Amino acid sequence: MAQRYIIALDQGTTSSRALLLNAQGETCAVAQHEFTQYFPQSGWVEHDPKEIWDSQWRVLQQIIQSQALQPAQIAAIGITNQRETTVVWHRETGEPIYPAIVWQDKRTAALCDQLKTDGMTPYVRKTTGLVIDAYFSATKIRWILDNVPQARSWADAGKLAFGTVDSWLIWQLTAGKVHATDYTNASRTMLFDIQKLSWDSQLLDALQIPVSMMPQVKPSMAAYGEWTYEGVPIPISGVAGDQQAALFGQLCWQPGTAKNTYGTGCFMLMNIGDTIRYSNNGLITTLACSISPQPVYALEGSIFIGGAAIQWLRDGLKLIDKAQDSAYFAQQANPEHGVVVVPAFAGLGAPHWDMYARGGVFGLTRDSGKNELIRATLEAIAYQTQEVLAAMQQDAQQPIQTLKVDGGAAANNFLMQFQADVLQTTVERPQNVESTALGAAYLAGLGIGLWQPDDIGRFRAIDQVFVPQMTLEKREQLLTRWKKAVQRSMQWEA
Ligand code: ADP
Repeated sequence: MAQRYIIALDQGTTSSRALLLNAQGETCAVAQHEFTQYFPQSGWVEHDPKEIWDSQWRVLQQIIQSQALQPAQIAAIGITNQRETTVVWHRETGEPIYPAIVWQDKRTAALCDQLKTDGMTPYVRKTTGLVIDAYFSATKIRWILDNVPQARSWADAGKLAFGTVDSWLIWQLTAGKVHATDYTNASRTMLFDIQKLSWDSQLLDALQIPVSMMPQVKPSMAAYGEWTYEGVPIPISGVAGDQQAALFGQLCWQPGTAKNTYGTGCFMLMNIGDTIRYSNNGLITTLACSISPQPVYALEGSIFIGGAAIQWLRDGLKLIDKAQDSAYFAQQANPEHGVVVVPAFAGLGAPHWDMYARGGVFGLTRDSGKNELIRATLEAIAYQTQEVLAAMQQDAQQPIQTLKVDGGAAANNFLMQFQADVLQTTVERPQNVESTALGAAYLAGLGIGLWQPDDIGRFRAIDQVFVPQMTLEKREQLLTRWKKAVQRSMQWEA
């Protein structure tokens, strides 16, 4: 019998990607297409939903053609996507009524402040696991209903559909037959009850969003519908938001396992099993992917500036030509340099949540130079990760044995070794760092029974393990100095 394949559609913030896996879990083809970012006003970020779909369609076709796949060879499709980004379309025409409002968009900050003033914070936290923030979909939907002509009357007549990008892609692939999303994406809307696993009527009412707009919600591994390709129905059998897909792709399936993605920012998620825990340390609680019918929860901490600090060294300060050169210069630095960089360029995220913090460089002496500054910037990424992991372990009341890593900056060996040292935890980097797309592919393959969980365990090969080497005394000294620098960066603008 001919080889069968799984296709993962990885719809990211700046590009759409498609990944082809064979039945042995090997990546056979990858295609990527960037699309336009729109910044119509300060703090606003939009995408064109049609361009998202066109770019996703294009890469899907590209990998099919590059491997000359017959429709019957495509066993299933998995979808993973940028989370929270909001699309509203008309059910009859299938036309978006407004551009997609992207997760980074801050236009609804005032509405969020109003919800806080109205005392909604405890209810939102208990029901959705989230903090009230413009980041999540809820206030973006409300903005569209309030600002697009006719939107409110269409919504009241049941003619509008809301979806995160996964729903929009499912709608397109099924030619408008299916309006659905998965638990992980639903849990980022600020409208979903993560315990009852249903849309919350009190939050929908508070935001005046009719429930008729909302997609049906299913587990991440489920039968979502079919994409008909040359007359052959191909099941869509796995769907998850990008960070949860990465957690799944890193095989963090047991409580107490965690991954950190070192991209522009850093996103750390820890599987906490089937019981909800709320954070006392500024983390959010969210739904993760599950291989059983039971829901699984995760704690999540986001760091705003991760690899972006290395971009700052490259493009802002022009200290390096390429991001990867940072490791070389860091090795040249005086190891006892004493410089601390706090890259709070956009305030501080978890666990500090200080919008008014700003970046700072501390501990400079006459002999501090380029190498020390570069080294301190890499170290800052590791310190921030350490703080989030410490918060997670405290909230989950569970130590973690190994941190699994992925994302662009995880390629940096200096950073990974320093990370293991300041965590006093083993850091494990897989050979294939496409964790997000792999997670979606695994969900899809498991969903149709092409694979069993044990098969997937065999697919994952480790590239390198970083074992802590630093003395505890040295670590304490470094962490104390970092904390002092963070304190001095906080409330800077206030
Ligand atoms: P995103 O998905 O957020 O665009 P990526 O996972 O592609 O991010 O990672 C890119 C980020 O990682 C950039 O901010 C870049 O500066 C940083 N980066 C890439 N390679 C390295 C490296 N070898 N060392 C340190 N940082 C790196």
